[in-house]
Amino acid sequence: MTTTTIHPTPEAVVAFAANLRGDLIRAGDDAYDDARKLYNAMIDKRPAFIARCQDVTDVMTAIAFAREVGLPLAVRGGGHNGGGLGSVDDGLVIDLAAMDGVRVDPEARTVRVEGGATWGKVDHAAHAFGLAVPSGIISTTGVGGLTLGGGLGHLTRRHGLTIDNLLEVDVVLADGRLVTANEHEHRDLFWAVRGGGGNFGVVTSFLFRAHPVETVVGGPTLWSLDDAADVLRWYRDFIRAAPRDLTGFFAFLTVPPAPPFPEHLHRRKVCGIVWCYSGPSERADEVFAPVAAFGTPLLHGVHPMPFPALQSAFDALHPAGLQWYWRADFFDELSDEAIAAHVEHAAQLPTMLSTMHLYPIDGAAHDVADDATPWSYRDANWAQVIVGIDPDPAMAEPLADWAKAYWAALHPHSSGGAYVNFMMDEGQERVRATYRDNYPRLARIKATYDPENLFRVNQNIEPKN
Ligand SMILES: Cc1cc2nc3c(=O)[nH]c(=O)nc-3n(C[C@H](O)[C@H](O)[C@H](O)COP(=O)(O)OP(=O)(O)OC[C@H]3O[C@@H](n4cnc5c(N)ncnc54)[C@H](O)[C@@H]3O)c2cc1C
Repeated sequence: MTTTTIHPTPEAVVAFAANLRGDLIRAGDDAYDDARKLYNAMIDKRPAFIARCQDVTDVMTAIAFAREVGLPLAVRGGGHNGGGLGSVDDGLVIDLAAMDGVRVDPEARTVRVEGGATWGKVDHAAHAFGLAVPSGIISTTGVGGLTLGGGLGHLTRRHGLTIDNLLEVDVVLADGRLVTANEHEHRDLFWAVRGGGGNFGVVTSFLFRAHPVETVVGGPTLWSLDDAADVLRWYRDFIRAAPRDLTGFFAFLTVPPAPPFPEHLHRRKVCGIVWCYSGPSERADEVFAPVAAFGTPLLHGVHPMPFPALQSAFDALHPAGLQWYWRADFFDELSDEAIAAHVEHAAQLPTMLSTMHLYPIDGAAHDVADDATPWSYRDANWAQVIVGIDPDPAMAEPLADWAKAYWAALHPHSSGGAYVNFMMDEGQERVRATYRDNYPRLARIKATYDPENLFRVNQNIEPKN
């Protein structure tokens, strides 16, 4: 395939910059190299322009410029996307980072969030009112990308996916109109943004339902890698039967060489479960009793903590600028054969930060029908992600080789598709496998709201009536 680089006239660029309240950064500017950096340093894109939008009008101006000039367009929320879908070579990036306002309504138990905020800001603001919005497990992740793809994390079993708590969005469409979508207005658009990614426009504002979650009992239980098969077999049954106010994701990991981990465990490969119990505190001991009693834990480190402390507990381990290679799938069951493949590949974790996570996506996430949102795998019980991570660019290939081999061994046991937010840029077949029967409806809504596929730097839905 040949690509043509578009060069807008200098006059058009000057007029565009003059119409923006935020900065327009161009290749060669002092700020350019910093501004184009993505969270995943494995992806190195060189956009022609980065518009640091300050408000909705800036977003409208930027969309109009890209459309009129014919520039490829990318939208950047938190910039965390594994495949680097928040940027584009030779095109225009709409950078929403400055649009990060958060407003909590404690009476209505809702939180309104601008399109470029990160979850840490939401957690901080909501916690002051004893509330939380279900999101992920790392607070530096963008609200925009995480929500539009689905959003799974510590509160999924209790309160559902992030999209299950989304009440309304303001969206700037490809034709420049600003619309509000909710259960009453633009209902088809509201359906589509709850899992269909950034395909339908730039979301400048999200309205979420929040829940009374303040102090949780959380942290890891770790076991020896030699016990991994037993732990996984116990875990698959335990968590499915556990009350919804308990979530725990399973991980293969290397113990970080830092507090709060005891020195004798530093750099040891282990398996573990990171727990979040958000129910009544007086029941915590009872809920965790079977956990502490299972096998011979190397560490049972669960404690009461403010919810934002758990949400940000892993932030320092994962600063921006590392190499990341992701592979993902959904699973209905964890068969004994799948567990054997896990144990084999986990023993070969290539670097200290590389990991495999299995997130339970049952509980409240199962209360929603397969076609009520684009997230079609409501019957799946697990979202698995294999991630090779390291600071050293020379490790990029070994990380990818390990993740691909591990994924290939597990894929035959999977349900078929994967969580879009855990995928790299993997092509149409994977996107269709993920949306399954919801894909044709997404394609029709795409044809209504973005017939020219202006928003195509994403897990792309091709417009089709
Ligand atoms: C360290 C780490 C931890 C993670 N943990 C979790 C987790 O616990 N749970 C989970 O569900 N996911 C998790 N993810 C995956 C995460 O959801 C995706 O990487 C997601 O794409 C990040 O969103 P972003 O806004 O930061 O990314 P970006 O790269 O900015 O954007 C990703 C995609 O979303 C689009 N987009 C972003 N904002 C908007 C907007 N306002 N309007 C329209 N389109 C927009 C972009 O165009 C792009 O296609 C994690 C990722 C990382 C790197």
